Amino acid sequence: MNFELRGCPINKYQLLEVVSAFLHGRKPNTPAHSVCVECKRRGTVCVMVAHGTPCLGPVTQAGCGAICPAYHRGCYGCFGPKETPNTASLSAWWSRLGVKEQDLVRAYRGFNAFAEPFRKESELHEQQTS
Ligand code: SF4
Repeated sequence: MNFELRGCPINKYQLLEVVSAFLHGRKPNTPAHSVCVECKRRGTVCVMVAHGTPCLGPVTQAGCGAICPAYHRGCYGCFGPKETPNTASLSAWWSRLGVKEQDLVRAYRGFNAFAEPFRKESELHEQQTS
């Protein structure tokens, strides 16, 4: 079985879960939801809604504890795409915040640039800059 543990750095509890799961021959139980859920759980105000700060949290897999928004900055996606991320909707939000096409391309290529949802979304915006 192949399994990719995401994050920069990875979460030590997720690492223990993956090792334990493999030793017991079961599928690792890691979150499929977004960083937004972690913000809500720790009571962090949404940086995008409250301050207009671009944030990849809505499309990024949870696991870090929503560290970056807790320090009033947007998530830059180091845990990679969540399950079925709605990147089109998030990009539309970012555009309404005034983010330019080339900056959208850079955002999706910061971490996990070759993960399919991020790659496809960055290619779409790259086409719109040319
Ligand atoms: S970039 Fe996103 S996923 Fe990575 S630590 Fe910051 S909030 Fe978490």
